[in-house]
Amino acid sequence: MDMSLGGTVEALRSEFRAFFAESLPVDYAARTLAGGKLTKQEHNHWHSLLRERGWNVPLWPKEYGGPGWGPMERFLWEEESGIAGAPRLNHVSQDLLGPVIIEFGSEAQKRELLPRILSSEDWWCQGFSEPQAGSDLANLQMRAVREGDDYIVTGTKLWTSYAHLANKIFCLVRTSADGPKQAGISFLLIDMEQPGVTVSPIYTLGGMLTVNEVQIEEVRVPVGNLVGEEGGAWDITRFLLGNERLMGAWIGVNMAFARQVRERFEARPVRDAVMARRIAEVETDLLALRYTTYRVLADEASGKAPGPEVSVIKVRGGEIMQALTELLLELGEIESLVHPGTLPEGELPIVPFELQHMAQQYFDRRKLTIYGGSSEVQRNIIARRLLKV
Ligand SMILES: Cc1cc2nc3c(=O)[nH]c(=O)nc-3n(C[C@H](O)[C@H](O)[C@H](O)COP(=O)(O)OP(=O)(O)OC[C@H]3O[C@@H](n4cnc5c(N)ncnc54)[C@H](O)[C@@H]3O)c2cc1C
Repeated sequence: MDMSLGGTVEALRSEFRAFFAESLPVDYAARTLAGGKLTKQEHNHWHSLLRERGWNVPLWPKEYGGPGWGPMERFLWEEESGIAGAPRLNHVSQDLLGPVIIEFGSEAQKRELLPRILSSEDWWCQGFSEPQAGSDLANLQMRAVREGDDYIVTGTKLWTSYAHLANKIFCLVRTSADGPKQAGISFLLIDMEQPGVTVSPIYTLGGMLTVNEVQIEEVRVPVGNLVGEEGGAWDITRFLLGNERLMGAWIGVNMAFARQVRERFEARPVRDAVMARRIAEVETDLLALRYTTYRVLADEASGKAPGPEVSVIKVRGGEIMQALTELLLELGEIESLVHPGTLPEGELPIVPFELQHMAQQYFDRRKLTIYGGSSEVQRNIIARRLLKV
């Protein structure tokens, strides 16, 4: 089936492929494709290679140092990066906060913050969820009380991805308890390298450290760190989550996993029909998701803001990846059940490199249907806003 996007967009695809072939360190790609992790230094090294090419902030317009791509080009980048096994960018800084500052930030914030994201000097994390505020985000309690030219901030953020690597956090904070819950929420930028900020790690089912609890205790934050109006965070949040969910399609990464599934299956001496059918079903789902995503992007390219369709993309993207990691685990058979974390200190796993992380990967990918808005909540949005039931 022809999935060509035609003309200049396809020419860019060839450019991306040539760049990855020439510049992506083989070791980074092998580790990423196997579900392994890179260090912060390695990520920054990769960012610097992309920066030389002008591609490390794919969502940004040219005037701020981005490539000025439209929705199709950006998506193609994401797709080809996934297929090549390119390490994911510092997504929270480059894909989530950067566009927020460009859209809603003051001139001073743009001048100060955007270059520091471009150079990877700042690593931001996202402080939205709290112990009593996940799906019901408007219930958040982190307090910011105005005192002169500062806010005094106190509260706890939970499940904060990569807070242990970050030096800055953007938080949704409560600046007023009056009126509708959403109207009292503001968007605040906080330096984490100061007394009163404590990061505690949380190890997840996959045995990895990605999420944390962040406690903020009486921390003074200048009023100049407020993004947009006081009480105006809800529109910013919707804008940011729209970007996050659209990326939830994971088309390129899913295609790389699908390729590994197919290769493992074809290499089997005996290929059973049940497994063949399961693989074909996931491949078909992935193709359908790819079409749906292109359709939504084409709308966006013609000026339509992303709507509730992104919820469909996020739900399906996560489910497909979970199905693929499950198939990989099954096709890897007993070898892939060796979880690197279960081996005695210093002992190397005897399984092939590409399988070392497979069990970890399988468990870790369960998160996809929770973060960025759980699948149940996305289905509510689809029912209400798309199906109108
Ligand atoms: C790996 C990982 C990384 C994360 N990273 C970040 C991060 O960097 N920053 C950040 O701010 N947050 C982050 N989160 C938090 C994430 O956004 C929340 O976990 C998510 O919004 C769900 O909230 P909750 O965990 O409080 O569950 P709850 O909201 O308590 O939900 C519990 C269950 O009830 C269901 N449910 C809730 N409401 C409804 C409803 N109205 N209808 C039907 N079912 C419902 C949910 O689907 C879920 O199954 C991360 C989470 C994970 C797992």
